[in-house]
Amino acid sequence: AAKGAGRNRYSHFTPTLQVAALSRMRLTNDLRGALKGRQFELYFQPIVDLASGAITKAEALIRWNHPQRGVVSPLEFIPLAEASGLILEIGDWVFHEAARWVRRWRSEHHAEFQVSINQSPLEFQREGDSYQRWLRHLESLQLPGQSLVVEITEGLLLDANSTVSDKLLQLRDAGIQVALDDFGTGYSSLSYLKKFDIDYLKIDRSFTRNLAPDSSDMALSEAIIVMAHKLGLKVIAEGVETPEQRDLLAAAGCDYGQGYLFARPMPAEEFDLMLRSG
Ligand code: C2E
Ligand code: MG
Ligand code: MG
Ligand code: MG
Repeated sequence: AAKGAGRNRYSHFTPTLQVAALSRMRLTNDLRGALKGRQFELYFQPIVDLASGAITKAEALIRWNHPQRGVVSPLEFIPLAEASGLILEIGDWVFHEAARWVRRWRSEHHAEFQVSINQSPLEFQREGDSYQRWLRHLESLQLPGQSLVVEITEGLLLDANSTVSDKLLQLRDAGIQVALDDFGTGYSSLSYLKKFDIDYLKIDRSFTRNLAPDSSDMALSEAIIVMAHKLGLKVIAEGVETPEQRDLLAAAGCDYGQGYLFARPMPAEEFDLMLRSG
């Protein structure tokens, strides 16, 4: 009877859910050793100036080379890293790697090269003076804050508490720029854009995907670009996959494009070779 009761207590879990929960636990456990085991790798994807075709920026995107499972997507492990608190250490690692590479690309490719890094909401709202420490590290590399852009999502600004405003001010003081990632997927209210000091707006790739002359996504993208420019922001379109999308965006005045048309995210060494070769 005791056995039966024990089983019953969990009877609302379907086997699939149990398997999923177990797999998440295992993965979280593996995540704890991933930094020490040097299993993370920072990939870079070019951000292209649509008017000139020049590559003056890149987005840093983390990859986890799991010893058994192969490459695990950040979409899968970042939530686990957030839930376990490991995201803070991972975020520091991303920053240090990004700083190392942007230093090289500023000295060897383009003096104003910028690398953007992503910060999850929890990471962005971490307590303390992390940006002061980051700034000191940048100074030790003789890099200005403008070498870096931090990408955050609009949800953070919507229910912006004092921590969020404080962090944005810290970034501003450090000269680090801010991009609003995945714009258009959330609440798409432009009203907070005048309240906070944001430098770039990244139009989500769900808009780019359906771009066609006279389409509603074209009208929305054009409106977003005009408003962003009036508020002093530069616009980056995500998910540019075809020459048609690139041309429509350029004609609409979009400043930068990012997507498979230009290049997929790639290891830093490969990105470095690409910059050297042209
Ligand atoms: P995101 O910041 O919106 O990054 C853009 C995602 O779109 C990347 O996925 C990129 O590989 C993908 N992408 C780029 N161009 C195209 C395209 O033309 N077509 C399509 N279909 N996709 C394209 P990825 O690398 O898998 O990253 C997924 C998300 O994981 C990122 O979305 C970001 O939110 C998060 N992430 C990545 N690296 C980090 C990190 O270091 N820290 C944190 N906190 N989050 C990260
Ligand atoms: Mg991003
Ligand atoms: Mg994005
Ligand atoms: Mg996205």
